[in-house]
Amino acid sequence: MSTKVAVVTGSNKGIGLAIVRALCKQFNGDVYVTSRDVGRGEEAVKTLNSEGLKPKFHQLDINDLNSIKNAAAYFKGKYDGVDILINNAGIAFKVSDTTPFGVQAEVTLRTNFFATRDVLTHFLPLVKAGGRVVNVSSMLSASGLKQCSPELQQHFRSEDITEDELVALMQRFVDEAKKGEHKQGGWPDMSYAVSKIGVTVLSMIHARRLSKERPKDGILINACCPGWVRTEIAAPGAPKSPDEGAITPVYLALLAPGATEPHGKYVSDKEVQPW
Ligand code: NAP
Repeated sequence: MSTKVAVVTGSNKGIGLAIVRALCKQFNGDVYVTSRDVGRGEEAVKTLNSEGLKPKFHQLDINDLNSIKNAAAYFKGKYDGVDILINNAGIAFKVSDTTPFGVQAEVTLRTNFFATRDVLTHFLPLVKAGGRVVNVSSMLSASGLKQCSPELQQHFRSEDITEDELVALMQRFVDEAKKGEHKQGGWPDMSYAVSKIGVTVLSMIHARRLSKERPKDGILINACCPGWVRTEIAAPGAPKSPDEGAITPVYLALLAPGATEPHGKYVSDKEVQPW
């Protein structure tokens, strides 16, 4: 039988590194640290080596389409696809950051939503039967949803929303934020939350598509919140360690063979949450 493989984006530090650590212990296959910076990625591999773990490494900058295509071609060539994909890479401006809101909106959505979508566009066709895809979203996607206008909430909860419609809505947020009109447009005043609404809804759209187009393959895709975790994104006072933050993403990545759910859900603390 061919070697199984798990790929974790943005895994040179924080929750991503902790996910790789847990998968190295629990997953029977090759586990890849991926990082936009080769040096930082190799340092992360050394850290895990010093713990007796043996992850592999591949460069992957999710903001660089060529990097995504190169990585996808590598995993297709070496493993004929991937078994586990965890989209963990993400960014957040500090609350104290004075960068204009419109710029924060554009930069945050570019990585957290549009680049994550690019990874999915190129990697989802490579996910093998029985595969697991986990998109690291945030509890702020759920709280941000409640602060959207009724019209937007309806779109984001719709069972029929298409990927193109979601992309257009995310772009509308960026455009309105740049003009200072996002509040009139019905959006919350939080770019990060909007970017993660996009990640959660995209996971639901892809789940419906996989069920329709590859019903026999048993691939499960979900969005999750890792909790509030002590990393560079969050304040030092956050209650969870990175290893604790990895628990729910790893649970979803290792859902037992033959499992049919959760699929297309938003999951936190290993429980499906209302959306
Ligand atoms: P972190 O320590 O800042 O780690 C973020 C990771 O993403 C880093 O490895 C970073 O790489 C990588 N990254 C950023 N842009 C990238 C790009 N263009 N290409 C590839 N990698 C990129 O933060 P974290 O808390 O572990 O965050 C991991 C995920 O959890 C994020 O999606 C975040 O939104 C989500 N999350 C975190 C919390 C929390 O409380 N910490 C709560 C909810 C959700 P560099 O080192 O090169 O910057």
